[in-house]
Amino acid sequence: MKYDTKNQPSDTRYLLPAGPLQLDEQMFHAIFSTTYEFIIFLSPLGILLKANQAYLSFIQAKESEVIGLPFWDTPFCKYSPHTQKKMKLFIKKAQKGQLVRATVEYVSADGKKRPIDFSIEPIKNDAGDVMLLVVEGRDISKHKRLDDLRKEFLSATAHELKTPITVLKLLIQAHLRKAKEADTVVMKKHELELLDAQLNQLTQLINDMVDSSRFETGKFSLHFEIVDLTTLLKKILKKIQVYEKNHKIVVKDLPKNLIVVADPLRIEQVVLNLLSNASKYSPEGTTITISAQSNHEAIVSVQDQGIGIEKSKQRLIFDRYYQVKTKTKTGFGLGLYISKEIIRRHKGRIWVHSEKGKGSTFYFSLPLANGIS
Ligand code: ADP
Repeated sequence: MKYDTKNQPSDTRYLLPAGPLQLDEQMFHAIFSTTYEFIIFLSPLGILLKANQAYLSFIQAKESEVIGLPFWDTPFCKYSPHTQKKMKLFIKKAQKGQLVRATVEYVSADGKKRPIDFSIEPIKNDAGDVMLLVVEGRDISKHKRLDDLRKEFLSATAHELKTPITVLKLLIQAHLRKAKEADTVVMKKHELELLDAQLNQLTQLINDMVDSSRFETGKFSLHFEIVDLTTLLKKILKKIQVYEKNHKIVVKDLPKNLIVVADPLRIEQVVLNLLSNASKYSPEGTTITISAQSNHEAIVSVQDQGIGIEKSKQRLIFDRYYQVKTKTKTGFGLGLYISKEIIRRHKGRIWVHSEKGKGSTFYFSLPLANGIS
């Protein structure tokens, strides 16, 4: 590459060193030592000549420990015979002048696995002989984990949306058939209830997806006002008792005035989500208990007698898309994530106490309105 230092804009010229070769070297060293990508130079036979800090830190080795080793014998490959075998093959291809791109599994000394995206580029001289192999790579485990979650989410979304849509379609088609013979079609009450329930389910799924994407894009907003939490909880209860017939819902210890500054619709959404989970993950006929208390802050709890959650999973259930694999039919793994985000934006906390097989109690807290309660 040639640099015309004379025609550089003045500020750039001021920063540039005297000769073009020096500039090339400086730029190369800057990229080589600061990039997050692994860069490794190999001889055409695959012997390691130089490696950058990103690579050395990743394999936890010093340069002197790996220089002169065949690349497949460095810690990058040596703990996995499979990766070693693949790497030997890739290097053979590159020796013949082929550009290699692949994903390999890196296995560390303690057996942990990580996917690495990498390429081997053969550098040729004017005669076309391969003089050097340049390996570039990066750890894609984070990217892959997110990608896996997205794929799972997409397939779960499709599945969850399909069920209510199929029910709606079947019902409507049946009535359209009847409408061929008569202009007016009468729907039975239970059919209308079914339509309503399916549409509610669809609306819920879509709302969850919209909320989740608003958190991502920063477009989620709250409308704060002074709220009597006790009154709000009683109102929610009245609503839920209309359609929750499979569980006994009990209210305990509601203080008289529990005044907070909150977005009432969003707090209702959190409570309904906790109640819906309590119902979804506990056997029919069991009791769900809601209670609230004031202790420097307002604390609301929803207790069930359901399947419970293993200790190791209890922190993860608030993550986006996370679902414990159970036989119980579940949704998207968005409900608790959305609840956590709503409560966090109210400067509150949300947490769970649970024991597998013995039920769960979900809690959330909200700061009390200053000087009011
Ligand atoms: P979803 O219920 O749609 O899967 P959530 O975010 O609401 O998503 O919950 C995440 C996971 O937490 C669920 O998949 C479930 O395994 C677990 N979970 C939530 N609430 C309860 C509960 N009350 N009892 C047992 N497990 C629960």
